[in-house]
Amino acid sequence: MTRKESAVDVLIIGAGPAGLVAALWMSKCGINTRLVEQRPYHLRVGGADGIHPRSMEMFESFGIDEEITQVWEPITGWALWCRNAEGALARSARMENPTPVRCRWGPGLLQQGIIERIVKQHILEQSCVQIDYETTPISLVIKEDSLGDPDSHPCVLTLRHDDGAGVSDELVRAKYVIGADGARSWTRKQLGFEMQGTRTRSVWGVTDLVVVSDFPDIRLCSTINSYGEGGLFFLRRERGLIRFYVQLNRADEELPATSITQELIIETLQKLLRPYTLSVKRCEWWSTYTVAHYLSDGMTKYDRIFLVGDAVHNHSPLVGLGMNISMQDSYNLGWKLAGVLKTELNSTILSTYESERRPVAEELIETDRFHLQLFDAVTATGSEPAWMLEREEAMQPSMQGFAVNYLDPLLTAAVGINRRPGALIELGKRFPQLNVANHATGKVYSIQTLLKSEGKFHVVVFAGDLSIPHELNRFNTFGTALKQIENQIMVKFNVIAVHRASKTATELASMAEIFFPVDETTGRDYDRVYCDMETNYEEAGIGEYGAVVLVRPDQYVGWSGELEDVQDLTRYLQPIFETKKQVPYNN
Ligand SMILES: Cc1cc2nc3c(=O)[nH]c(=O)nc-3n(C[C@H](O)[C@H](O)[C@H](O)COP(=O)(O)OP(=O)(O)OC[C@H]3O[C@@H](n4cnc5c(N)ncnc54)[C@H](O)[C@@H]3O)c2cc1C
Repeated sequence: MTRKESAVDVLIIGAGPAGLVAALWMSKCGINTRLVEQRPYHLRVGGADGIHPRSMEMFESFGIDEEITQVWEPITGWALWCRNAEGALARSARMENPTPVRCRWGPGLLQQGIIERIVKQHILEQSCVQIDYETTPISLVIKEDSLGDPDSHPCVLTLRHDDGAGVSDELVRAKYVIGADGARSWTRKQLGFEMQGTRTRSVWGVTDLVVVSDFPDIRLCSTINSYGEGGLFFLRRERGLIRFYVQLNRADEELPATSITQELIIETLQKLLRPYTLSVKRCEWWSTYTVAHYLSDGMTKYDRIFLVGDAVHNHSPLVGLGMNISMQDSYNLGWKLAGVLKTELNSTILSTYESERRPVAEELIETDRFHLQLFDAVTATGSEPAWMLEREEAMQPSMQGFAVNYLDPLLTAAVGINRRPGALIELGKRFPQLNVANHATGKVYSIQTLLKSEGKFHVVVFAGDLSIPHELNRFNTFGTALKQIENQIMVKFNVIAVHRASKTATELASMAEIFFPVDETTGRDYDRVYCDMETNYEEAGIGEYGAVVLVRPDQYVGWSGELEDVQDLTRYLQPIFETKKQVPYNN
């Protein structure tokens, strides 16, 4: 057997949604990366399909939203059906699924394999990421004596390549490792972390079918609750498919996994749908799962090896969150790792991966547990208890991905400009959608679409009315200070200014250089200054004299203040960008 040796900045184990989004960040930031996957490459069937609005915002920031929406099925509405104690099945509600407030996207459905293929194509646009299929790590050693040296490669792995035709081993030294290897994570086991949680008795069948049925809402997303019998819900998918989730037992019944067949799932589905009929034209995939809730007791070792996705959290597919939260784990980690590797960001920020994502994982498990209880309650009593309905409503923001509120003081300032409850811009939350018109062209954009995932911090300056001389003056004074900060920390920000003057009452030429810089390609950069539209200032919680909002590369608000708060802004940035004093790892 031959054995070669190599070195890499980041080694990612597992090419599921979490591993691929981590690799996409590395690709966007030009980081030398290997992604290894045990499977041979083929389009995955089955698996996840629900995409929540925050994931769409993430895809948009990476520039892949259009490819997704060309093939997905948006969730336009839900039908709720109930079978009562007398056995009659009737529709109890048919609801629109409105796009969440201040978001361009509603939820949608697309098979996980197609999402993975799209993300993979974008990763490979840059040559810095290499993907190896049919490759598995077989050993991991961490050289603890070199952990304090940022240039060292302390993670030493042996990879086994086995494509059926031949086997070869390779020794890889990596600066950082990301374990994105799913629920049975090999990486997690190497790190000695335990999954903690419980397994329920609740067994579900899940299948992707093309069907012929006279059920009126078959091409809508529908939930059918049958008193005493069980729950069923289904979702319209691409290519005429429907994803069915079928509850196969009651909470108090034991159902051995070995007794579950495709026929049992389809018979139960037909029974729950009666008196309507359903026949199967084509079955693309089926599977079964017993609901369990587990959370790893660790997410990182030495801030050199990180676990993301199902390697950290396991739960049921009931609320369609697993893939979304898994991708968001990597969305949180990727820019931090890339910034540290590019020696722009201080390596201490890597500790915020676990402090920011663990609460999200805990909430995910809680949300899933609650929804299982909800299904069981409806099956047992025939209706949803009022307190559950209220709680379900309250959970909507977290189901859409908007409840995330990062609080680690290293990345989220303690006090911002915005003290008004309900204001749209909040420290620790994702920057909302606010429409503005480009000052030079008049073209309308949502500010969030200007916050691209390229690894840069974004500085959004709400500039006030620039037709008033003293407001223009303070805007330009801030711009000059921002330029000095850029020079000091040797980093370029993505700068967006939004003013309240009319387009003709102020000119780009009167603005500080950072807002209207010379651009090698276009002569001048016309994409930094915008006119406010609608009532953005008021709704965002910003006074008429404006504010500055510092947005992290993953679109979460880190700091906000007045245009005069330059010292406070510098104090916020200093520990994040201070890279000269690398803190050695302390056990
Ligand atoms: C039926 C079903 C429906 C679902 N529906 C939804 C939904 O609608 N919405 C949603 O958000 N989530 C849903 N989920 C959950 C979702 O599929 C997972 O949460 C998601 O796939 C997790 O992504 P991941 O990348 O962390 O792990 P995985 O998708 O499990 O990917 C891990 C990858 O690592 C590879 N791997 C494992 N071990 C090794 C190793 N030692 N070496 C190399 N490679 C390795 C695996 O082959 C795999 O490709 C559903 C899950 C199921 C089963």
